[in-house]
Parts: sequence; structure tokens; C-alpha cells
Amino acid sequence: MKRMKVFFTDNIEETARFKAFLATPKKVVIICHQNPDGDALGSSLGLLHILQQNNHQVVVISPTEVPEYLAWLPGADKILDFENYTHSEKAKALVENADIIFCLDFSVLNRAKNLESFIRKAKGLKVMVDHHEEPEQFADFKFWNVKAASTCELIFAMTENLGDRQLVNKTVATCLHTGLITDTGSFRFDSVSQEVHRVAGELVSEGVEVNKIHRNLFDNNDLNRLRLMGFVLSQKLVYLPEYNIVYMSITADELKNFESKSGDTEGLVNYGLSIKGVKVSAIFVERPDLIKISFRSVNEVSVSEFSRKNFDGGGHHNAAGGRSKESLDKTIEKFISLLPELVTQ
Ligand code: 5GP
Ligand code: MN
Repeated sequence: MKRMKVFFTDNIEETARFKAFLATPKKVVIICHQNPDGDALGSSLGLLHILQQNNHQVVVISPTEVPEYLAWLPGADKILDFENYTHSEKAKALVENADIIFCLDFSVLNRAKNLESFIRKAKGLKVMVDHHEEPEQFADFKFWNVKAASTCELIFAMTENLGDRQLVNKTVATCLHTGLITDTGSFRFDSVSQEVHRVAGELVSEGVEVNKIHRNLFDNNDLNRLRLMGFVLSQKLVYLPEYNIVYMSITADELKNFESKSGDTEGLVNYGLSIKGVKVSAIFVERPDLIKISFRSVNEVSVSEFSRKNFDGGGHHNAAGGRSKESLDKTIEKFISLLPELVTQ
């Protein structure tokens, strides 16, 4: 997919086929990516609340658990967690029997972790709505724009293009606004366009309480999380001025010491970029089965390409994730050995 954007709604026949399919109540499954963030869950729940208004049977399935900082989102309590054994059989049957499966905020199927093979096997129509680079060709309908700042923005645009703007009520808008906030770093990243503010304006016009969303997202820490952040920033941050790079690492034991929950390391990586002149920030977190890596960069340095090439990952130009099956030390060693390549981009 070389083009910047592919909107199935730009095609009259595809739009008609899509609308005809959803003209009667259907069994709908919405799937987001593993370790879901505000955009993944905001878009999934926003779409859930849109589709439910037309009497579809809709379920959101997440490949991994819903982090606590997003549990307040309307409908989050009903999300099935595919790694929770009390949910997984039900989730499998829903995927298998779905008339239509929406894949939101990811476009390579391995981002759905253990759900990947079930999505591949499923008979239902597949719809992909996403803004990540290098999409895989698996969907029957694509609504994809690498320039979009968030999938929530795309869900709004798709809904508008389908003539369903009136379905965006306060509940939907609250979900979608969440993704706008989290994927744009509260409206400050390079990806923030006029379109982002237009959509935000539309959502605010539905009565979303912007400050309340912001506080739910960012002012709900427990003391342990704040202490973990303080510990990492003061003890575990390495600044390499010769490369304009910062990296941090957290061991499994350290996570345990701070009684860390999923989502607790979210956003930490961004602090690296707050140092004057720093172009790349990385964080390495020792999880039970792998080292989870997050990369952030500024301007022309592409971390998505770097992560795809070296750390089995991908994402966006300035924000990407990756993983390593090697030890934490070995992974960091590899990263350091690759720095000359990264900084000469
Ligand atoms: P994070 O560092 O917050 O996990 O991810 C940063 C961005 O890159 C998010 O948009 C996330 O969805 C995406 N991302 C993270 N890991 C991967 C990956 O392995 N592959 C791809 N394609 N995108 C990823
Ligand atoms: Mn996103």
C-alpha cells in the first residue's frame, strides 16, 4: 500500500456494499491491538457505541488485559480479555461466528497476539481502520491513513463519510476524544493537523468533558506508579549526549518492587525527549516472556523503520514499539551497537 490513504468510503460501490451489509442487525466483533492504549480502546468502544445504536450485537475483544488507567471508558467493563481464561472460549466462538470483524488501531495481524490465527481463519468480513505504517493486506474494507493522528479520528471520519454523523453522541465522543488526546500527546505531536482539531471540535460539540477525560487518564496514578516513574527517571535513565539519545530500562524485579500494574510504564519513554537536544528516547521493560521496547523520536529520525528492522516491531515514524527475546542486558547492548546507524539517518 504505497498510497498515503485508502478510504473504502471513497468508492461508491464499496460504500454501498458496506452499508447494505450493515443495514440489518449483525454479529459484530471489534478487536484492538495487544497492550491496548487510549486510541485502541477509545476507537473500539466508540465504534461499539455507534453500532449498538443500530441494534447490532457488538463485542470488543482485547488480545491482552485492559489497563487500569483506561478502565473508566464507557463500556470498558464489558471488554473480553483474550488472555483471561474465563473469557477466551467465548471470545473464540464470537470471532468464529462473527458476521463482521473490525480490526482497529493495527494493520499487521501479529499485533493481535494470540487472536491472530483466529482472525485469519474467521469467515466474517474484515474491516481495518488504522494509521500505522506498512499495513498487511488482510481486510475486505480498509479505512487507513498514515497521516491520521489517531484511529479515533478515522472512526469519526468513516462514520461521517457513511452518513452516520448523528450517531456520534456524548458517549461515543468521550471514547473518541480519549484516543485523540493519547495519540497526540494532548495535541502536541507533529501529527496534529487541522483535521485533528476539526474532529476534536465536533466531539466537544457533543458535550465531552475534556478536563474530566484528561484527569481520568493522567491524574489517576497511585503512589507506587509515581514512585516507579521517579525511580526510573533518577536511577535508570542513561543519557548519551554524543548520540543525542536517552534510554531507560526496568527489570521484572523492579516492576515487582513497585507493585506495578499493566499500563504503569506507559508514557515514561516520552520524558527522555524532554532533555534539550535529545532526538531519540527508548525504554526497555522486562516482561515475563520478552523485553518490551518503546521508541520515540523527533523530526526526521524514523523509529518505526529502525524497530521493524532490528526489533521485530513497527508503528509510526516518531513512535514505535518492538520486542526482543534476548535478555535485558543483551537487548540494550544490541541497541547501543546500532546507535551509529540510528543517529546518522
Ligand atoms: P508503544 O511504544 O506505546 O507500545 O507503541 C508506540 C506505537 O507503535 C503505537 O502506535 C503502537 O500501536 C505501535 N506499535 C508498538 N509495537 C508495535 C509492533 O510491534 N508493530 C507495529 N506495527 N506497531 C507497533
Ligand atoms: Mn493509534
